[in-house]
Amino acid sequence: LFAPRRIGDKVVEFVLDVTERRNAEEALRDAGRRKDEFLATLAHELRNPLAPIKNGLQILLRTTPAEAPAQRTLHVMDRQLDHLLRLVNDLLDVARISAGKVRIVREVVSIGDTVARSVEAVQPLVDARGHRLTVVLPSHDVLLQGDRDRLAQVFSNLLSNAVKYTPPGGAIRIETSVDQGEVCVAISDTGVGIPPEQQSAVFELFTQVRGHQPHSEGGLGIGLALVRSLVGMHGGRVEVRSGGVGQGSTFTVCLPKPGAPPPSSGDAADDA
Ligand code: ADP
Repeated sequence: LFAPRRIGDKVVEFVLDVTERRNAEEALRDAGRRKDEFLATLAHELRNPLAPIKNGLQILLRTTPAEAPAQRTLHVMDRQLDHLLRLVNDLLDVARISAGKVRIVREVVSIGDTVARSVEAVQPLVDARGHRLTVVLPSHDVLLQGDRDRLAQVFSNLLSNAVKYTPPGGAIRIETSVDQGEVCVAISDTGVGIPPEQQSAVFELFTQVRGHQPHSEGGLGIGLALVRSLVGMHGGRVEVRSGGVGQGSTFTVCLPKPGAPPPSSGDAADDA
């Protein structure tokens, strides 16, 4: 389109001035960087006072007699504080991943131990909602190369979503299977389900399915974006399947087994 053209005996060149577009793009990138910095500072500032509050509450819980009326209030405060801590930590993780500051520590990880750790983390929530949780592990444990804490975070994020988006008394299942080149962990629930047209969008940052948020435990739409980034950093993938509204959901994380081709990139900062 912009190649020089001969018009009569003259050669005419066309020049497209992209200065304005470049400036606009640079301004957008700048705004994005400032937003990430703001998120990181905000999360830090919010998190700092929470640690001493948590410690203080633990002391009060230990020293208040079990039959005292204050016990119940202290337990409610403790649960709400844990929820706040999870939100703030997720925010901090998103800001760090966006800034390319999250590095995964590769070590030999037992998939059985990692699943057990994440189950332990959500067990109180499972009990509180009266769910039934089934854990299925392979007959022989599988060892992976990965970050122990981050993988446990991936599974407990998915498990706590299963708990959160399933009405009380539901069934939740975490099942590990081993295929040729990979090990997959599927977390399924009998909950509210996800409409087909929204299933890929739920992995986008700050995306929530309308009408899903239980009042007591509203989130920010960060957890699944984090899951996708962290799984990507391990060279794996995560998928969701749901029969639709009211039909439950299954989230499956597949990770390469040692010896499988290495991931193409060490981070997935573009995801979050
Ligand atoms: P949050 O739970 O804080 O909103 P997530 O990123 O973890 O954020 O999840 C994004 C959205 O995906 C949720 O708001 C919810 O609408 C939907 N979702 C996630 N997990 C499930 C599930 N197990 N069942 C039904 N919907 C889910």
